[in-house]
Amino acid sequence: MKLVSTLENGTRRLGIVAAEKVIDAAAAAEGYAAATGAALPAEWFAEMAAFLSAGAEGVAAATAVLDWVEGGPIDLYSTPLATVQFDVPIARPGKIVCVGLNYADHCREQNVAVPERPVLFTKFNTALLPHEGTIRWDPALSSQVDFEGELALIIGRKAQNVSQDEALAYVSGYTVLNDVSARDVQFADGQWVRGKSLDTFCPCGPLVATADSIPRPNALRIQTRVNGVALQDSTTAEMIFQVPYLIAFISRSFTLEAGDIISTGTPHGVGVFRDPQVFLRPGDVVEVEIEDVGLLRNEVGNW
Ligand code: MG
Repeated sequence: MKLVSTLENGTRRLGIVAAEKVIDAAAAAEGYAAATGAALPAEWFAEMAAFLSAGAEGVAAATAVLDWVEGGPIDLYSTPLATVQFDVPIARPGKIVCVGLNYADHCREQNVAVPERPVLFTKFNTALLPHEGTIRWDPALSSQVDFEGELALIIGRKAQNVSQDEALAYVSGYTVLNDVSARDVQFADGQWVRGKSLDTFCPCGPLVATADSIPRPNALRIQTRVNGVALQDSTTAEMIFQVPYLIAFISRSFTLEAGDIISTGTPHGVGVFRDPQVFLRPGDVVEVEIEDVGLLRNEVGNW
């Protein structure tokens, strides 16, 4: 199942995506409950974070609602995907944990050794930007802004010290994230957080593929295009530390909570390691597409 957070008159709504349409989850669930007498917790359908925390039960309920809507009153509850205003999947994630140097091909392109353990850093949630939002920065701060297409996962429930075997059960969904990076700031600081947390430097979404629909997160094609040209083209199979390992490793060090986002690293092809180098400029359009998950598109604007 594919979900989306939308904005309607400034209010966040949860949408279920079906055949280029977005079904308003709260309205459809209310219609379904009235028509069938089923008792559904309204809070599940009000907001993405609450829905994802409901786990498999939420997905089962939404599937029933979707079947009912598709069997008849779909026009009453849906709008074309092309006309909705997108918001980020999770409004205020408790944390965004990022993994650096996690693709073998990305280590090779910069001639660094494969790390012995995951390299963690963070992006602040003030950097979040929705699909179709504009990436912008103060040119006095950076002239080397780069893209990093990444598979991101959303944690569904509290995870502390979980094993690799049980790790995927703590994932509620998968989405697309662009770990936009000011390389001059990142490398000058010798510490990555500032250069990766400028406002608008965390485009994320728009679609969330529920975890049940992505049984093998490390077998997905991932591609980043700038102005239509594919500059990153790889597969999540290239991850050095795969999704279950990352969750086990991270949850051993600190608690993961529902709504936390883990961005799993980027493959080869980023701009700074290309010859000649490629950095983002106003007017550029950056697209990150992940098989079975979705397409994230953002334009670069003037400051
Ligand atoms: Mg990254």
